[in-house]
Amino acid sequence: MGTAIASGGAIEHIRHPSTGPVGETIGVDIAEYGPADAESMLMIVSGTHGVEGYCGSALQTHWINGQLGTRPPNVRMVFVHALNPHGFAWVRRVNEDNVDLNRNFIDWSKAPPTNSGYDEIADLLVPSSWSAEEQERTTNVLMERALTIGLEALQAEVSSGQYAHPTGVFYGGSGPVWSHEQLHRICTQRRGSASRIGIIDIHTGLGEWGHGELIGHHPTDHPAHQRATAWWGDVRSMVDGESISASLDGDWLARAEEWLGDAEVTAAAIEYGTVDSISVLQSLRADAWLHAHGDPVGDDAPAVRAQVRAAFADDDPAWLIPVWSRFVEVVDHALSALA
Ligand SMILES: [Zn+2]
Repeated sequence: MGTAIASGGAIEHIRHPSTGPVGETIGVDIAEYGPADAESMLMIVSGTHGVEGYCGSALQTHWINGQLGTRPPNVRMVFVHALNPHGFAWVRRVNEDNVDLNRNFIDWSKAPPTNSGYDEIADLLVPSSWSAEEQERTTNVLMERALTIGLEALQAEVSSGQYAHPTGVFYGGSGPVWSHEQLHRICTQRRGSASRIGIIDIHTGLGEWGHGELIGHHPTDHPAHQRATAWWGDVRSMVDGESISASLDGDWLARAEEWLGDAEVTAAAIEYGTVDSISVLQSLRADAWLHAHGDPVGDDAPAVRAQVRAAFADDDPAWLIPVWSRFVEVVDHALSALA
């Protein structure tokens, strides 16, 4: 994170035990600005979903390069770069265990949630062969199901999280994963004496192209949701069905709020739309197949990685410009509220 070093931030690098596709070292970087004893803190996180870090990393570094002067002196800012570094390096949404990090923050002292709808379609979503014929056959059956139960119901079955198919999509894992443990440590160590904390977690791949929807994890009548609305205006509750996201178990923002205890936490995910949801799902199915049944460093890999990258990041300036200005607006509003 050369940008952060150049701009005078305090840097920490947490090395991941594994490596990227060409054997390179990988890890989470943290850059911090502002007084250690600040009562207010804003934490901005990228790469929760690996590949979504292309956008998140660009926004973080661009902000540090150009906007750092707008930080109110009494607010500490903590940038967590590539929370899921393995997924980022391998151009995957999931981590080294095929785990969707935002399904991993459930209460592991209880049995994980069941998802019988997913069980029924698990073999269709990630078949053992990814030939053109199998793609067509399985996709047609899934589309028929969407016509029968509705696209929203299918989205919930597929993406709300599942804990029974380790090589499937939207798999939540069998216990806290590496990035989960790191985030716990980061949150508890970095909070310092802050009593008011804002959190922004950057995502891509859902919603209208170039639009940045803020998503909260509380019902609309919850004080934290009302505070988020006062900060940012339009914040959609995923539990009240207002959001483009399915309501899900195990997202980290809800858990971070517990870890931060008595602090007043105002948190939202920002979700930038890229391509249509079918194309996004097809890319995730291809990726899951590659890692379950194919060779992640073989001949099929570059095309699958290109497909995933195209589904989660867009290099078109017509996409990048609104994405950037929305980010500046969201960060500005958080900083004003925290100052
Ligand atoms: Zn995401």
